[in-house]
Amino acid sequence: MRVAVFSTKPYDRQFLTEANVGFGHELVFFEPRLDRTTAPLADGFPAVCVFVNDYLDRALLTDLAARGMRLVALRCAGFNNVDLVAAGELGIEVVRVPAYSPHAVAEFTVALLLALDRRIPRAWARVRDNNFSLDGLIGTDLFGKTVGVIGTGRIGALVARCLKLGFGCRVLAHDQSHDPALVEIGIEYRSPTEIVAEADILTLHCPLTPETHHIVDAEAIARARPGFLLVNTSRGALIDAQALVEGLKSGKVGGVALDVYEQEADLFFEDLSNEIIQDDVFQRLLTFPNVLVTGHQAFLTAEALGAISATTLGNIAAFEAGKPLDNRVEAAAVSAY
Ligand code: NAD
Repeated sequence: MRVAVFSTKPYDRQFLTEANVGFGHELVFFEPRLDRTTAPLADGFPAVCVFVNDYLDRALLTDLAARGMRLVALRCAGFNNVDLVAAGELGIEVVRVPAYSPHAVAEFTVALLLALDRRIPRAWARVRDNNFSLDGLIGTDLFGKTVGVIGTGRIGALVARCLKLGFGCRVLAHDQSHDPALVEIGIEYRSPTEIVAEADILTLHCPLTPETHHIVDAEAIARARPGFLLVNTSRGALIDAQALVEGLKSGKVGGVALDVYEQEADLFFEDLSNEIIQDDVFQRLLTFPNVLVTGHQAFLTAEALGAISATTLGNIAAFEAGKPLDNRVEAAAVSAY
């Protein structure tokens, strides 16, 4: 099938091309994101393949449908960036990669937590400058700390398990469905209110939905333990970034590690080192010594990229063959967002 592949970096092209040997799709790679201005590149393609920061709203989907596009193949698990209601009305199928390597994201989450808590980036920068002072590098033991895990799906469950069994943390979790395997190892399901009040460390692993938008806001921060650490590798808009800045300024928030940011579409995946960043909230976040930001790289392992490519191309092949779409995203799964 002819596929217009947007938001591609060299690593995307490499892994998709390697995986395509078994499929034989005609993949045409485009570096820019898919938006109203780049939509003409997809003219005549029956399928587009996109990533997390390609926002396919009703207007863009309508434009693409008029150009003959019938399939959106997401190279990611999250689907908050596609208006599924509009897609359904336009007869466009949307498929995704529900699971590629939860280990990639879970392991990165724990890495961020350790790096934040033990001040590893600060230490590394000092040593590079022949500054071997330890002032300001005091961390805390994770052992015995209370960790709140919001969302215990594929990724959250691995993080919870690692922190409970590997580090000896007390783990409190919240999810609509309780994972019996986690309960069995002593993880306690609680309400979000209880978790926020008790957690020394809060880590977010739920999807972005209208319900979870700004789940960490000024009110939640006010109710949290003073000096708590916050980790977010899920979706940026789970956190109200302005409220986070205020929480950091007051010292209520003890430290933050983010792999995602609400306005990341304007920033991440690009080299902006010669640009003036216009996002004042993001720039303020970067000024805190206890904030660690990475540019949405938690998924970036060879295993995950290989699995994403294979599943995406398989999804496209199933659509082309008129087979049932196992990884179809149902319009009813979430309201337009
Ligand atoms: P998953 O669907 O397996 O798990 C999500 C869990 O969140 C489910 O168990 C669901 O019941 C739960 N949930 C839904 N609403 C909730 C709420 N209001 N409160 C608490 N729990 C709620 O998804 P996953 O594979 O574990 O991925 C989790 C998230 O991680 C994705 O939604 C995606 O946004 C993000 N992600 C980020 C990266 C990255 O590179 N940073 C990579 C992959 C996924």
